[in-house]
Amino acid sequence: MLIDLHTHTTASDGALTPDELLARAAAQGLTHISITDHDTVAAYATVSVPDTIELISGIELSSRWRGIGIHVVGLNIDLQSATLLAAVEQQQAVRLSRARKIANKLMKTGIDDPLSAVLALADGQTVGRPHFARHLVTIGKVKNVRDAFRKYLGNGKIGDVKDEWVELPEVIDWIHAAGGQAVLAHPAHYRLTQTKLRELVTDFRAAGGDAIEVVSGSQDVAVTRKLATICMDFGLHASVGSDFHRVDKRWADLGRFAALPAQCPPVWHLWQ
Ligand code: MN
Ligand code: MN
Ligand code: MN
Repeated sequence: MLIDLHTHTTASDGALTPDELLARAAAQGLTHISITDHDTVAAYATVSVPDTIELISGIELSSRWRGIGIHVVGLNIDLQSATLLAAVEQQQAVRLSRARKIANKLMKTGIDDPLSAVLALADGQTVGRPHFARHLVTIGKVKNVRDAFRKYLGNGKIGDVKDEWVELPEVIDWIHAAGGQAVLAHPAHYRLTQTKLRELVTDFRAAGGDAIEVVSGSQDVAVTRKLATICMDFGLHASVGSDFHRVDKRWADLGRFAALPAQCPPVWHLWQ
């Protein structure tokens, strides 16, 4: 059994189409995979699943906790759930309103109507800052995407507009309404102190959260050990995932991450 419960496709900000992702997963010998695109389940409408793979429905929802952006993966969800579909629509509206705000700010620097350009670039996918970055490169305002973030879109720059995501407990409720399990995604990515991380997990647990990603991508062994302890201390289940976006050094490849520490109860035990 080789299982990866956190991956992205072109339906959000991944580079592979859903079919390409599953073909790669099959080639890597994965037996179970979940596609967890940001705030969308669009990939599931088109994907064809190879015989050797079991596809577990999923999504990665954006939320807010004490003003910090926190991601919650929903697994084993009913893709037809009315609550989930309404939630997805609401999340897309938040993203679009943010894109509009970024566009307005960029227009103040003399850039001509970037919104229609980025919507065209996004081509029905989730609109985000990467699309603005690509547009700034295209119109010659910056040399590359990195420059676009450094000069226009990164922290403290004119196009740095925060999303107005719903609070953490609400996304957990959406996932439960869709019959799924709520997983705190990549807990080490938020760069919280140990105390604050435990406060986050306390609130996550109190809101009904089911599991935490004890193994996320190619994280440090020491981090995995720390998260395994938190998982046990809070009586949560554990999940694992690459958070694969594309084939490059920044992201782990599908299924290529350390084994889940033996003491952690896997989230997939809840499905049997
Ligand atoms: Mn992403
Ligand atoms: Mn994430
Ligand atoms: Mn992700």
